[in-house]
Amino acid sequence: MEQIEIRFPDGTVLLHPKGIPLRGLLPEKGEDDQPVAARLDGQMLDLQTPLERGGLVEWIGLSSESGVEVLRHSTSHVMAQAVQSLYPGVKVTIGPAVREGFYYDFDVDRAFSPEDFPRIEDKMKEIVDRNLPVVRRVVSREEAIRIFRERGEPYKVELIEDLPDPQVSLYEQGDFIDLCRGPHLSSTGRIKAFKLTSVAGAYWRGDERNKMLQRIYGTAFPTAEALEKHLFLLEEARRRDHRKLGRELDLFSINEEAGAGLVLYHPKGALLRTLLEDFEKREHLKRGYQIVIGPQILKLDLWKRSGHYENYRDKMYFTEVEGQGYGIKPMNCLAHMLIYKSKIRSYRDLPLRYFELGTVHRHEKSGELHGLLRVRGFTQDDAHILCTPDQLNAEIKGILDFVADVMKIFDFPYTLEISTRPEQGTIGSDEDWDRATHALRSALEESKLPYQINKGEGAFYGPKIDVKLQDALKREWQCATIQVDFAMPERFELSYIGADGEKHRPVMVHRVILGAMERFIGVLTEHFAGAFPTWLAPVQVILLTVTDPQIPYAEKVYRRLVEAGIRVEKDFRNEKLGLKIREAEMQKIPYMVVIGDREVQKELISPRARTGKAQAAMGIEEFVQNIKEESSIGGESYR
Ligand SMILES: [Zn+2]
Ligand SMILES: [Zn+2]
Repeated sequence: MEQIEIRFPDGTVLLHPKGIPLRGLLPEKGEDDQPVAARLDGQMLDLQTPLERGGLVEWIGLSSESGVEVLRHSTSHVMAQAVQSLYPGVKVTIGPAVREGFYYDFDVDRAFSPEDFPRIEDKMKEIVDRNLPVVRRVVSREEAIRIFRERGEPYKVELIEDLPDPQVSLYEQGDFIDLCRGPHLSSTGRIKAFKLTSVAGAYWRGDERNKMLQRIYGTAFPTAEALEKHLFLLEEARRRDHRKLGRELDLFSINEEAGAGLVLYHPKGALLRTLLEDFEKREHLKRGYQIVIGPQILKLDLWKRSGHYENYRDKMYFTEVEGQGYGIKPMNCLAHMLIYKSKIRSYRDLPLRYFELGTVHRHEKSGELHGLLRVRGFTQDDAHILCTPDQLNAEIKGILDFVADVMKIFDFPYTLEISTRPEQGTIGSDEDWDRATHALRSALEESKLPYQINKGEGAFYGPKIDVKLQDALKREWQCATIQVDFAMPERFELSYIGADGEKHRPVMVHRVILGAMERFIGVLTEHFAGAFPTWLAPVQVILLTVTDPQIPYAEKVYRRLVEAGIRVEKDFRNEKLGLKIREAEMQKIPYMVVIGDREVQKELISPRARTGKAQAAMGIEEFVQNIKEESSIGGESYR
């Protein structure tokens, strides 16, 4: 019999007869460690696949990323089997594993709802408990078409008809059969923990001209604990959803009458944003940035010159007045370059750091809009640094320090990535790219910051550093970016007079720290679950009276706090105290101050922190001092 040579990552080499199924090579280990699939020279295969050739075999354990994918995809088959046995006549289409779970699309004459889930889950549990072997079968296309025709599965027939291969693989478990490339778990009993999560409509093949199918989403994990943790995080994300909190805390709304993706800031949301913007202005001025302000619309010719009209037109809004076309700015760079060009610059003037809280508009597709996270009008904390090539390294280090300081204030851990030159379609010389990439790398290395490299992921005009922060639920969000740009200074003929008396091209760095204010506020809201730290809370203190006789003293406290610059609200209504406390708690205000007879008599106040901790009674001035200290950021009193 012909022998094939099997190699393993540890260097072991074994000879086996050709045609041996992968599971014949399994290491002898405990049940839990058993692999669920393998890679043969990188190609994922089932354990039941007979080996027709030798090569490098790498086992895929259940808890590895690929193993979990196999598990989830196998669970989608079990779900389809359950749905078909509960609802006869349902036709199956496709059911892949996706990020964090799986789905299956069904053609069914009723709309599924989450109320159907317990029944389907029970049936799935039954199929899992029966521990049905999952059998792979390779048949000819014709045979496969015949099988699915017989079973009344037109979608499968259509899929097979589109396949170029003469042979296709089928997976069978009990009375269920599916067209599938695999790999799959060897039996349904290997599924331990799953849950159906949601249902949605989806067109067959994603085409709206086709029939609307019912898509059921679910997820599966190697252990019950892992599933529970995932479900907890999902629930937590729902609880923290900034759209929900934005409504409850009266921060913002998005109104179809105004337009999708356009944010209306209500007083508390606008105050929160103003606090952030003031913070930003102060931090920028401290670091040698100059605040500039450009117009909202700029002439069309300028957008043609910058290349935006050619490359970015689909995302821009345009207008025309007196026969002159204008583009509403999607970026802030152009005005900053015109400011640079407003006079002759010497190398002694550089670096110039122009900062603008620049509001831009970009036409994002309606399907991609999402609360504050994806909008059409937003304000960036944008800056453009114009410097000599020699200054690039120091400027980038300065920005990295800036990022570190700001992330520390918000208590966000973060990671850094460098994106290098794409293979094709870039501008600028090799020398420029090398120098810029080197500047980014050496700045990171000299700052002793770990980073990842995204090869070829840079912009067409230069390499960049992306900063991703991690929120309380360990989700990553892109915030700061630092991009080196050779194209714009070239296109706009920016120059400075060097020490040699000659004209030179400055380098331009585009950078944001928080990114879009809208998005950052959305992230902050979810990160803090709406309980903003005292320095950012739109309302810092709420005063509650127990009964009417305390109102005169309470008014006095209120006036003193307002005078001291503390953001305070009052609830002196003639309502039950319990109700007033509950309402104040819902607003997640850092301090609640209940004023009763005792406080009036002793001219004291008894603050209660949002965390539930009651503080000892104190005088008004002491309280004012405490709040001010808590609101000071970077050593400066902030209110
Ligand atoms: Zn499958
Ligand atoms: Zn820019």
